[in-house]
Amino acid sequence: MTPIKMVIHREILGTPKNITISKTPSGKYYASIVTEQDVPPQVATVNPEGDKIGLDLGLKEFAITSKGEKFENPRYFQKSLRRLKIRQRRLSRKQKGSSNRNKARVTVAKIHEKVANQRQDYQHKISLKLTSENQRISAESLNIKGMVKNRKLAKQITDVGWGNFLTMLEYKGDIYGCEIHYVDRFFPSSKRCSNCGYIKQDLTLAIREWECRECKSFWDKDINAALNLMLFSESKIPLEEGKSTPDQLVARLEMNRGTGSGQEAPSFA
Ligand SMILES: [Zn+2]
Repeated sequence: MTPIKMVIHREILGTPKNITISKTPSGKYYASIVTEQDVPPQVATVNPEGDKIGLDLGLKEFAITSKGEKFENPRYFQKSLRRLKIRQRRLSRKQKGSSNRNKARVTVAKIHEKVANQRQDYQHKISLKLTSENQRISAESLNIKGMVKNRKLAKQITDVGWGNFLTMLEYKGDIYGCEIHYVDRFFPSSKRCSNCGYIKQDLTLAIREWECRECKSFWDKDINAALNLMLFSESKIPLEEGKSTPDQLVARLEMNRGTGSGQEAPSFA
């Protein structure tokens, strides 16, 4: 048997039970090792030092908090698109079964892998920051499947990767003691003035900032939405402004995931 060199990403704890070797399309090998060890049961307690925030997810900015923090949307796929198109064109010109075709195929696969890794790293950083600094995050439950059916936005929405990010928030929330609340997507979080409750019916996607007609508050649309999500989770918004009670609206993602009919256009209510 010839020994194989490997890079160990994490210390191997416990007794290895089985190893799965996988190969990516670009030809990299990964070994995932399942081990067994005795770990005392963990009790996830809410971090009392943390803040309670609202979190608005978007395409212009990836995420905006009710504290006014903005995380840019890096659009990794969009940035690699030109390179990808050139490489894909080259691949399509290579003769089937030739070694040059195989090389070209690996090059294309490597670009896809890089994009996925960049997106993953970025989302790990943000989800770690948010769950370790806060005790509660209120986000809108998104009908991602339904949104992706809108062809104009499908690529951008796939590239931004909200679903994956929310999953990260949930499991990191369990580790750092941060609750993730989901507010029903039909709650008008963008249209509502988070100061006085006035509903701006004519708000469109193109409007980034607006002034409330009633109380004259001047809003960044996304920060205002994040504030509303926070207030709603705090039950500080009167019931009549929503379509159902906070108990019904604020639900864990498990209850919302995959229940959308998938017919509607993106709702940025
Ligand atoms: Zn107002």
